[in-house]
Amino acid sequence: MSDPTARAAAALKAGDLIILPTETVYGLGADAANAEAVAKVFEAKDRPRFNPLIAHVADAAQAERVAVFDATARGLAEAFWPGPLTIVAPAREGGGVCELARAGLDSVAVRVPGHAKARAVIAAFGGAVVAPSANRSGRPSPTTFADAVEETGHAVAEAVDGGPCAVGLESTVVSVLDGKVALLRPGAVTRAEIEAVVGSLSEAGEGRRSPGRVALHYAPDAPVRIETAEAGPGEILLGFGPGVGEARWSLSPTGDLREAAANLFRLLREADRERPSAIVVAPVPREGLGEAIHDRLRRAAGHVG
Ligand code: AMP
Ligand code: MG
Repeated sequence: MSDPTARAAAALKAGDLIILPTETVYGLGADAANAEAVAKVFEAKDRPRFNPLIAHVADAAQAERVAVFDATARGLAEAFWPGPLTIVAPAREGGGVCELARAGLDSVAVRVPGHAKARAVIAAFGGAVVAPSANRSGRPSPTTFADAVEETGHAVAEAVDGGPCAVGLESTVVSVLDGKVALLRPGAVTRAEIEAVVGSLSEAGEGRRSPGRVALHYAPDAPVRIETAEAGPGEILLGFGPGVGEARWSLSPTGDLREAAANLFRLLREADRERPSAIVVAPVPREGLGEAIHDRLRRAAGHVG
């Protein structure tokens, strides 16, 4: 088999792990229905088992075989899929996402990725594919093929190169449960974009929050300081906007949030390789995509989110 898509689908069928390119970050993929394969994902990432995984599917019809969608969930799927929005909805009985992948919950997270290679692999495989970020738990997500291979390449049977991730930030996670929509994790689709489709968002109810949202996450080895453009000797400044820091280390020299999102994890990882005494990140606006960038930076810095 010389076709990487067919090889990746065969690896999934055999219960092996793969590196799966998506538009958000590189994923560590496994057959969502196969508890042994899913256990390998938790092991390779050293991910706590209370943190459920997202089931990636090829289209909205496949999503509805996994989860039970109401009209609101369908509206969100129509507006944002394929793309970086994850919908948490009641798990469908016999829907093929194993209990371990759901961390024992009666809900399931599902998404149709925007990257054509991801959808091609999932379609060739035929079932849902869990694909958390291909990094070891707690570290910055890989947004290039090389970074993904460095993090978890040792654990996979196949690795699919999809180029640099266009978005560079994880998906937005919303729950659509009991007729209410709540934002569980800010991400590439903004709050305003979601509210334009469903109206104002609710607070996530007790026991309905995202179990995996721990304080220290996305963290390089070097300590991270945020919201200051003042770096001392031995520290690397990641700038934002004209004239802040060196061009090589700028999230976006023009101050563009999309560009900053696409560069964020790659630059955190590149800066870390220089063994700085700290990585300092210049202030970034909080509006729009800035909400998700801030969320990741606060966690990279170990601030409680
Ligand atoms: P990751 O795979 O690391 O991008 O993370 C997936 C995110 O989705 C984590 O924050 C999980 O806690 C969240 N998630 C997945 N399934 C559920 C669910 N059934 N209910 C609430 N949050 C979920
Ligand atoms: Mg992750």
